[in-house]
Amino acid sequence: MQALELTLKDEAATIKLGEDLALALKAGDCLALSGDLGAGKSTLARLLRAMADDEALEVPSPTFTLVQSYELRIPVAHFDLYRLADVSELDELGFDEALSEGICLVEWPENALAALPKSRLTATFSHLGDGRIVTLSGDAAALLRIERSLAIRAFLLERGFGHAKRRHLSGDASARAYERIFAPGEQALILMDSARHKPGPILQDGKYYQQLAHLAEDVIPFVAIARDIREKGFCAPNVYESDLDVGILLIEDIGNDGILDADGQPIAERYLESVRALAHLHAQPVTGHISRLRHPPHSGF
Ligand code: ADP
Ligand code: MG
Repeated sequence: MQALELTLKDEAATIKLGEDLALALKAGDCLALSGDLGAGKSTLARLLRAMADDEALEVPSPTFTLVQSYELRIPVAHFDLYRLADVSELDELGFDEALSEGICLVEWPENALAALPKSRLTATFSHLGDGRIVTLSGDAAALLRIERSLAIRAFLLERGFGHAKRRHLSGDASARAYERIFAPGEQALILMDSARHKPGPILQDGKYYQQLAHLAEDVIPFVAIARDIREKGFCAPNVYESDLDVGILLIEDIGNDGILDADGQPIAERYLESVRALAHLHAQPVTGHISRLRHPPHSGF
């Protein structure tokens, strides 16, 4: 994948990019922050605040200690190699171990290029007027994640949520990921990030895995079934905004309560209610929302 070049008109833009990166980075990512003194490297490193979900988190430049570690959802080690005397010191600082467990942010990567992983990401800052330009390059898989995160930010911006705070909610194992979206003065919302499946190899009867396993290939079944359930008088998340093609939904946050109590024990009445709801739904025909969403009247079908 090509490098991404972004204009950051002010400090707030750098911080917002940090928020978007905080949701895209994964354990094993090395993000090198390159640029002159005052270019914005440490400002971007404050993405640690978004990762910690703590606006007040101190993120000092580890100029003298060379590394500062943070035990977060994903552990992060923030390196500043300005005063590194020799490449071999990186080893003593525990770089490899930090990268095997989490994310490494590296200011002044030029001082240890030979010791940094080849599959790293690099953010290169330069001045442009009063603002900055940043180029993100390197590891293709990580760049794709970042591009997706920026597409989510663009989705939010187009729908009037450009300044919303985004926080990780869940979704490391499945193809779907969720975020909590906090727009100033509004109730929290849930963002569902679920890109359309790419067809895999044909396995049987001319079908690929998702088709054989009857998995949803895009977000349309989710939207259709939520609508159907709500029309039948039950609670399902309202879908406020959607991009069905790209696979991004902004939906109602119906809270964290589940069917287990605080001790992890089943709450019997909730199980019974769930079964009653299922039986009720089962006894009624499913409406045609799926086909209407796939072939809306104005699409020419
Ligand atoms: P570095 O770590 O690269 O030396 P800093 O992150 O400390 O640089 O940033 C230096 C200054 O640049 C800070 O005052 C910061 O507020 C400002 N800054 C950061 N990003 C931008 C931007 N996009 N436009 C203008 N100023 C910025
Ligand atoms: Mg700095």
